Amino acid sequence: MRENPDRTAGDRHMTYKAPRGTRDVLPEESWKWQRVERVFRATADRFVYREIRLPVFEETELFARGIGDATDIVRKEMYTFTDRKGRSLTLRPEGTAGVVRSFIEHSMGRGSRLTKLYYFCPMFRYERPQAGRYRQFWQWGLEAIGSMNPAVDAEIIHFSVNLFESLGLAGAEARINSAGCPTCTPSYNELLRDRLAGSLDQFCADCQVRYERNPRRMFDCKNKHCLELLKDAPSILESLCDECTQHFASVQDLLSRMSVRFVVDTSMARGLDYYTKTVFEVHYAGLGAQSALCGGGRYDALVEELGGAATPACGVSSGVERLMTALEDTGVMAAREPGPSVYVASLGSDAALAAATVIAELRKSVSVETDYQGRSLKAQMKEAGKLGAGHVVIIGEDEVARGVAVVKNMTTGEQDEVGVEKVAALLVERLASAGGGT
Ligand SMILES: [Zn+2]
Ligand SMILES: [Zn+2]
Repeated sequence: MRENPDRTAGDRHMTYKAPRGTRDVLPEESWKWQRVERVFRATADRFVYREIRLPVFEETELFARGIGDATDIVRKEMYTFTDRKGRSLTLRPEGTAGVVRSFIEHSMGRGSRLTKLYYFCPMFRYERPQAGRYRQFWQWGLEAIGSMNPAVDAEIIHFSVNLFESLGLAGAEARINSAGCPTCTPSYNELLRDRLAGSLDQFCADCQVRYERNPRRMFDCKNKHCLELLKDAPSILESLCDECTQHFASVQDLLSRMSVRFVVDTSMARGLDYYTKTVFEVHYAGLGAQSALCGGGRYDALVEELGGAATPACGVSSGVERLMTALEDTGVMAAREPGPSVYVASLGSDAALAAATVIAELRKSVSVETDYQGRSLKAQMKEAGKLGAGHVVIIGEDEVARGVAVVKNMTTGEQDEVGVEKVAALLVERLASAGGGT
């Protein structure tokens, strides 16, 4: 076994830390993740996408072919390893290749229906760790496989905008473009090369490589100087074939009909080579320069490229960490986790036994916290307040002797004394009528 390079020889007896580029999502934060996941799944239900749970690793070859040998992901960022039988496997760096592999393997396209799938799971890329970037990170995504209909593209864009709005990011806006198809992109690439040939030496080194391989990718450059040089480059929309022009127009018509906010952005290329026709991103203006929350598009050649029958498809994916930061930065996410419905405070061993019965009864339907450290009633009340409990049940030595308990509403401050055997029923009823409970 090789030593971890992050450790030095003297470190051997140090305690352990999460591996570089990974992080723990602790309870103070995980409830926010759960909320995002709940809203995502509810949105997927409304659009009738069904979940697919994929293996964490796949054959390396699948990603090399599905994402592209020339991409940074495949060249530099994959977690690839050899298993005990010498197979080359890779931790999934994205979701689409695995979904398409599964679609083909299980013949999901039978009967020429549209297959609508979603995933919400961690991905793995060996990237230089930096703020907000992790080597294990989460993505949600949708794939709709089996139709050329522009209604599918519009639906996926609508879904994305709708999701962000459901999470509280009102005013999210789609930016859309067409990536063309094998019929029309070669002439556009030629046109681009012609127009940029004169200024090529002024572009960055990466762009010079892109110029040869796929000049449209120059629009993906982060270099301001390169983007300035591209300002007068011809738009792909003028080079589209009739079919692509028609398709792009239909997508826009449909988005307008659905009242989805969108703009056409002809400088958008998206990082991956496999896109055809529609490409899009959804942006939220409140986030400054890095305002993109998700991206996707149509990939009509990928299923065939991965060994299936020629099948058109469209999808979207998005980083969850980015979304979490956006929700926190915009103040949309509540700062505080909702507390338990009830806190049961007791003092003395007899009271603790009475409390155990009340707690067990309540936990059939509501969330209940209690004290485990034998603290004073005062300290327990303080704890209940800190947790944000909705109600507190107090059973002290005096109460247990009289067979009663005090029920306090922490919002109004009202207190009632009730028979200890009636406490659970009373609270369940109150919480139900308040629309609360958990
Ligand atoms: Zn075309
Ligand atoms: Zn550049």
